[in-house]
Amino acid sequence: MSFPWQSAIEIREQVQTGAVSAVDVARAHLDRAETLNPTLACFLTIDHEGALAAAAQVDRAQKAGETLGPLAGVPVAVKDNLCTRGVRTTCASKILGDYIPPYDAHVVEALRASGAVILGKTNLDEFAMGSSNENSAFGNVANPWALDRAPGGSSGGSACATAAGIVPIALGSDTGGSVRQPAAFCGITAIKPTYGRVSRYGLVAFASSLDQVGPMARSVREAAALLEIVAGHDRRDATSADREVGTYRAACDRGVKGLRVGVVRDLVDGLQDDDVRRAAQASLAALEKEGATLVDVALPHAKHAVSVYYLIATAEASSNLARFDGIRYGLRVPGQDLTETYTNTRARGFGPEVRRRIMLGTYALSAGYYDAFYLKAQRVRTLIRRDYDTAFEQCDVVCTPTTPTPAFALGEKTDDPLEMYLADIFTLPPSLAGLPAISTPCGKSSNGLPIGLQLVAPPFEEERLCSVAQAVEDACGLVGERPPAIG
Ligand code: GLN
Repeated sequence: MSFPWQSAIEIREQVQTGAVSAVDVARAHLDRAETLNPTLACFLTIDHEGALAAAAQVDRAQKAGETLGPLAGVPVAVKDNLCTRGVRTTCASKILGDYIPPYDAHVVEALRASGAVILGKTNLDEFAMGSSNENSAFGNVANPWALDRAPGGSSGGSACATAAGIVPIALGSDTGGSVRQPAAFCGITAIKPTYGRVSRYGLVAFASSLDQVGPMARSVREAAALLEIVAGHDRRDATSADREVGTYRAACDRGVKGLRVGVVRDLVDGLQDDDVRRAAQASLAALEKEGATLVDVALPHAKHAVSVYYLIATAEASSNLARFDGIRYGLRVPGQDLTETYTNTRARGFGPEVRRRIMLGTYALSAGYYDAFYLKAQRVRTLIRRDYDTAFEQCDVVCTPTTPTPAFALGEKTDDPLEMYLADIFTLPPSLAGLPAISTPCGKSSNGLPIGLQLVAPPFEEERLCSVAQAVEDACGLVGERPPAIG
């Protein structure tokens, strides 16, 4: 039995029957985390003691004959922008370098209640701003499939830890693609739920009209299982939807017979990257073989998504990040003049990308520019949502690749922020429209890098995403394949 590579579902079963102890499972995974982290840098904090204590509690409940929670004994990694009570939560920023939250995020509470064992906090782009994890103040993460490649961002640490067999499942956050793009780069599955499906209570805010927490896993079924745990109404988040949680795991067995898959032809056939184009076309053919119908749909306004997103997200970020002023968090020198504290804190506390975005966002919101930039961006956002509404009159899910290329090299795009922003071209439209989206592996490039396929559904139709993604996984997923670079 090879521990670190077991699925969450297998681990839960064996812990429940007593075939293995949760403490042994936790030890094996902690070992792997501690061995690999110097190479991969996917964890900012490994909570050795906390994990063992949580596992011991699961074992006690098992011995007492209790029915265990749905993730009992399952090791999980949590992105370091989700608050964990008593455990440092940095957002990969110096400004929160020593911040220890006094409370758990809603999704962290849900994990603990399900019996999951939180191994630690994963690396990310500072405040979740980035597409390569290179904006972390604490060093970049490596892609387990090729150590000189980016793992994607901003949930690069969670994607890497999952793909590297350190945890079977992890949580990330997705504002414009941050669970889907790293999932595509690292060969795993990730779901960006409908806006409002999962509470953001305790998620450090980046762009509030877009942020969502999302599950990441090595298989569609495990991602679905994790979504069932974290989804649901929470009155502490005013945008949380009061709707019943779906049966996402069961949806994985429903198949695709009769489902209409909308293909955005110009995005798929027009792809420059041969490997990505071929992988996407092959998985569409596989879906057709399984009984789905392919229909052509168009998203005429999707081409504006990058400009729209980088106006709206920076505007909201400039407002959300105003609270990091040196008075409430970090870097306050007692007795120092407050203006000086504020200037010093922001200059020393934030990295270059975060400062760039605060400046862009402040500019977009300033008097005289608000109508021309922010308001206009919001209008185009509505047009993007309408494109989807029209598409969904003809199809049940919309399919595009997740990213225009497989994982790019570390350092390749760091000198050109605009080039980096273009990596999000396919993940941004559903985010702007508030729609649920999944990325699942659909093949590999000629040099052995994973490729992801993105599926988008109407609001609260995550079940449909699970059914279709499962069919893609069955036809061409990477489940069971291990990245050769790390052994
Ligand atoms: N890459 C996008 C950005 O840099 C999206 C990030 C995210 O989803 N958190 O903003």
